[in-house]
Amino acid sequence: MQFFSKDHTITHFSSEMSPNYKVKLGETFVVEAHDCYGGQITSEEVLRPDINLDIMNQATGPIYVEGLSTKDVLTIEINDIELDQHGIMVTTNELGILGEQIKEPTTKILKIENGKVTLDDITFPIHPMIGVIGVAPRSGVIHCAVPGDHGGNLDTKDITIGNKLYLPVFKEGGNIALGDIHASMGDGEMNGTGVEIGGKVTLTVSKLADKQIHSPIIENENDFLFISSASSLEKAIKKCAKVTVNHLEEQLSVSFETAYRLLSAVCDIKISQLVNKLVTVRIAVPKFILPKLFL
Ligand code: CA
Ligand code: CA
Repeated sequence: MQFFSKDHTITHFSSEMSPNYKVKLGETFVVEAHDCYGGQITSEEVLRPDINLDIMNQATGPIYVEGLSTKDVLTIEINDIELDQHGIMVTTNELGILGEQIKEPTTKILKIENGKVTLDDITFPIHPMIGVIGVAPRSGVIHCAVPGDHGGNLDTKDITIGNKLYLPVFKEGGNIALGDIHASMGDGEMNGTGVEIGGKVTLTVSKLADKQIHSPIIENENDFLFISSASSLEKAIKKCAKVTVNHLEEQLSVSFETAYRLLSAVCDIKISQLVNKLVTVRIAVPKFILPKLFL
């Protein structure tokens, strides 16, 4: 199995970036990732204001997928996420929903052991997930800390073991990069950080030939989750609702009104994260309505 080390990372997703690694369709491979701080926080003495924020959220890659074209949808199956032994959570002034209440920055190192996270003397189960994963965007340069239709800093807890992520392909080969693993994160990522950690992710890539999507979608056991990011929660929800309703109209061959009723009757809106430059939401469409992404 190919192993792609964290020695090759990007700080920006660019439409023109050239690959450091190469895989074939159907291939399973391992990607090693830094924590979101790029390993700069080595103890509780190192505070967030001390580090270089420009290299935050760096992503390992880009990984070129041979045989993947802009006429396809990229499918990334997340087989496993192996976590390092310690996670990091910082607090700092103005970070997160209640950041104004933080007077002095603090850093906490959290032990990860036997499937549990330990914070002070409180333990809770790990929920490994990938914060940053994406492909080359249609145009321009997007920092790895920013989410978008290309993926990026989606901070969506369903990007986890056993699920599939579907991404649009804007450039031949896709050029996948990923990083910013979390040992656990709640919807919203409300203090501005997950349990930040490095690790190794095992992925399998494939494609849906001659299909088009416009923004990321996740498949889990029960649902398809349509993901949208925008400058406000209201804008993100509206954008996500449009994408979801359009997809239901096309795939179920129903009117806008029927798709809109289904959106309201059976779909859940969820907040992925509220703390990045653009906020991210997702809408879960149950498989009893949409058994396959493309029918
Ligand atoms: Ca993140
Ligand atoms: Ca993070």
